[in-house]
Amino acid sequence: MAMAARFAELLSGLVAPGMCWSCSGLARRGEPLCATCRASLHRLAAEPVLASGIRVWAPVAYSGAARDLVRALKFRGAIALADAMAAQIVANAPPGRPGPASAGCTLVPVPLHPRRLRSRGYNQAAAIADAIGDRAGLPVLRCLSRSGPSITQVGRDRAERRAGPAGSIDVTGEVPERVLLVDDVVTTGATLGACRDALLARGARDVAAIAFARTIGR
Ligand SMILES: [Zn+2]
Repeated sequence: MAMAARFAELLSGLVAPGMCWSCSGLARRGEPLCATCRASLHRLAAEPVLASGIRVWAPVAYSGAARDLVRALKFRGAIALADAMAAQIVANAPPGRPGPASAGCTLVPVPLHPRRLRSRGYNQAAAIADAIGDRAGLPVLRCLSRSGPSITQVGRDRAERRAGPAGSIDVTGEVPERVLLVDDVVTTGATLGACRDALLARGARDVAAIAFARTIGR
C-alpha cells in the first residue's frame, strides 16, 4: 500500500473509529460489532434445519445484536454490513456450503417486491448474495422476482405468513440445477418455500437456503 494511502487509512481510523451497530460503543475498525456484542451472538449448530420443507442454514439466531445488524442493513442503509454478514456465513458454513465443496451451486437472492426495492434502493438479500459470491467464488443469479400485492409481513398473522409470501414469485431465464437461495433472515421459511417451488417447477433439481440469521424457538 502506498504511504499516502496508509496514512489516510490511519487518519480515518483515528478520526472515525468503528462504531458498534448494536450498542453504539467502540468497535474495531471494519468490525460491525464491538467485542461484547460479538460475543453475545447466539451461534447456531452447523446442521441445516427444515423450514417450510426447505433445508436452511444460518450462522446465528435472529435476536439481540444479530437483529440489530439485520435491521441496520434493511432500514438504515448500512449496505457495507452485507459483506460482514457474508463473512460470517462463509467462515462458519458447514461442509458443503457455501465453499469449494459447493462448486456447481448458484446463489440466488430472495427477491424484494419492486415497490419495496424502489423505496429501499437495494435488495439486502442480493447484497449479501453478491458478497458471498465474491468470498466463496460462487456465481450469483438474479432469476427471481416478485409481483402482485406487497403487503408487509408485519400485521399478517402467523397462519397467513406460513401460507406464503404476499404476491407471487416469478422466474426469469434459465434456472441452474443446484440453487442456494440467499436471504438476510429466515422466520417461517414460507418465502423460501415459495421460491423453491417456483425454481423446481422450472427445472431446478436441488434447492437449499442460507441466511445470516434464523428465528429460533417457534
Ligand atoms: Zn456493541
